[in-house]
Amino acid sequence: MPAKDDHTDRVFCGTIVHSTKSDPLEIRENAILGVKRGKVLFLDGKDRLQQRLREHELDTECLVNLTPRQFVMPGLVDCHIHSPQLAITALGTDKGLLDWLTTYTYPAEARFADHDFAHQAHHKTVRRTLRGGTTLASYYSTIHTDTTLLLCQAADELGQRALVGKVNMDLIAPEFYRETTQQSVAETERFLDEVLSYKSGLVTPVITPRFAPSCTLPLMTKLGEIAKERNIPIQTHLSETVEEIETVMKLHPGHQSYTEVYDAAGLLGPKTILGHCIHLSDKEIDTLKSRDCGLVHCACSNNTLRSGVMDIRRLMDRGLKLGLGTDMAGGYTTSMLASIRHSVDVSNMCAIHSHNKQRQNGEHQQASNHTTDGSPPYRPLTMAEAFRLATLDGSSVLGQNCGNFEPGREFDGLLIDPEVKDSPLDLFDFDTPDDVVQKFLYTGDDRNISKVYVQGREVVSRTE
Ligand SMILES: [Zn+2]
Repeated sequence: MPAKDDHTDRVFCGTIVHSTKSDPLEIRENAILGVKRGKVLFLDGKDRLQQRLREHELDTECLVNLTPRQFVMPGLVDCHIHSPQLAITALGTDKGLLDWLTTYTYPAEARFADHDFAHQAHHKTVRRTLRGGTTLASYYSTIHTDTTLLLCQAADELGQRALVGKVNMDLIAPEFYRETTQQSVAETERFLDEVLSYKSGLVTPVITPRFAPSCTLPLMTKLGEIAKERNIPIQTHLSETVEEIETVMKLHPGHQSYTEVYDAAGLLGPKTILGHCIHLSDKEIDTLKSRDCGLVHCACSNNTLRSGVMDIRRLMDRGLKLGLGTDMAGGYTTSMLASIRHSVDVSNMCAIHSHNKQRQNGEHQQASNHTTDGSPPYRPLTMAEAFRLATLDGSSVLGQNCGNFEPGREFDGLLIDPEVKDSPLDLFDFDTPDDVVQKFLYTGDDRNISKVYVQGREVVSRTE
């Protein structure tokens, strides 16, 4: 890592898997996927290969012939991850959110004042996530501007597409890990200037007020103004735990809800990315929908810290923009494959809970597949929908033009090999391509991710 070959043109021949707006899991056998200068050129049937090569002046040297079991899929998109928390991954899961932050997180993040440590640690995170197939991530860093720039550098050097945010905190936080409002604003401006002047093709700065308990309203308002003036995305946490909501209501009196606090500060808009969003009222959902915000489901973290059960179907049915996030280290893994599985598991729990509730109320399902009051039964998240959330939908929440293989998109992809020597998948002769993809999504891991491409560059190769 990173790529030896910069933006090499390629034509993959074999099975191509991706999502479209109408199909959450499209599996195209005998397909060709053309990539030129980092972008998707065409996705077509193999019978059109010669014609496509001539049309685009590509020679046969750029052909990548896949084995019958291999397939190419879009890179995974982690819409919510804390790079500095890698060192505390899987630690302190006995605590709830607010205790966990004070006991483990803030001391761990304070270490990022140290340049050498931060350089090493941020590179470690980016290497780990890229290796797991995350080609696009939205990172929370720490309050330190200079070492947050090292995270931008790590993504750029190792070849990962990333949103990176310097965290803002001027309210409840320990003395050793807190800024004044003026410092926080000035350092945010400096961070934006630095990142934007660097003109990276991969890194986008994102304004990152940690969450309403750690930011004053004047700070959040000023950050909202900066985001608007400079057209910068915003990321923060919303409605993760009940205790957190109570804290917000005490710290920011005069507002009806947690969402309203952010709205009053001018933080909600189409470029806003909100992590968790578990305990929302219908009114809050209406506000988030009208502001066209993106919401991130962090299922592993929600389970690990026992923050709550997020009903993603409720939000999907209301048409909100949604993606998935690991929320490492609230979540104990950087793996987006795990996020996909956790999201399906949590939704299954919602379905079981809903079914039990109906039974208790005497509303047994009828042959018409409807409850006695006429409402349809709960529809748990399908694996195909979770796949789209982790690729195409995540890309949309982060405002990026990748996530599937429509011509013109940036090519961020994974070459999956279900038959590597140490593969955790058990395949049988009669498995269809659809079976193989499902087995990978449920039981595959890094070992099956043979190559990772970002912007057309090969940034990870398992044979290296
Ligand atoms: Zn988080």
